[in-house]
Amino acid sequence: MFFPLLLAAALSFTGRNAASAYDYARDLTENHSPRDAGTVRGRLAANWLLDTASSAGLDVRRDAFWADTPFGRRNMVNLTAEFKVGNDAEWVVLVSHYDTKPGTGCPGANDGASTTGLLIALGEMLQTWHGDKLPSCNVMFVWTDGEESMKAYGPDDGLWGARHAAQTLRRRGLKVKAVIVLDMLGDDDLAITVPGNCDESLAKMALKAGKRCGVKVSRLESKVTDDHVPFAEAGFPAIDLIDFEYPHWHTPEDTMQHVSERSLEQSGTLIAAMLDELLK
Ligand SMILES: [Zn+2]
Repeated sequence: MFFPLLLAAALSFTGRNAASAYDYARDLTENHSPRDAGTVRGRLAANWLLDTASSAGLDVRRDAFWADTPFGRRNMVNLTAEFKVGNDAEWVVLVSHYDTKPGTGCPGANDGASTTGLLIALGEMLQTWHGDKLPSCNVMFVWTDGEESMKAYGPDDGLWGARHAAQTLRRRGLKVKAVIVLDMLGDDDLAITVPGNCDESLAKMALKAGKRCGVKVSRLESKVTDDHVPFAEAGFPAIDLIDFEYPHWHTPEDTMQHVSERSLEQSGTLIAAMLDELLK
């Protein structure tokens, strides 16, 4: 898909975008939970994502791959969508996982569905780009499968989709300006943080963007194991925007009751402000 041509000011994530993000998250949570990686239900969720993001106007592709897991080889599915300005332009990559944590009965409303819906809504926003010139970069969305570990994080457990996506970017020889991972950003009681193991200049950019658009972002000293790690290990500047203070994390109580449209609007506003900076 190519960016449409264009009028005045660039990007704004509106209340309407937030309502749409919430509806997508609810639809995924209510109809496809659990959706553990490598299971039939996981594949049904991938089909839902393909249909839903395509209906939202995104050019979505399915990227299936094999993953070695503590329980044997499993087939997993990433989904990607690209917004291109040119073949030689740099890429900004936005990532959300959509799978749920195996063995917990967790519906993954905040952990998985909230940012999956947010990414679709951000795709709707990008289609209405109103800059006075085209963005300077291409944008790619990746919905990853298999972020959650089956036993405990390790080389063969968890982050499979992100590892596969990072390898694919390397193999294609793409120039990547930034990888932004979104996780658990629909929490009703929102506190967006940047963990210690993130790219320093992207961390500063997130804090600045937050100040500019009035969304609070704080830094964490501790490292977090999340989808940004394989991208960083592959040599790409990567950041994780995550709200890890969530009492319902990996429990059956991670339902839409604890996800709010207002939080999704704040998260979307922050990401739009970062994109404004990255794409100008
Ligand atoms: Zn999780």
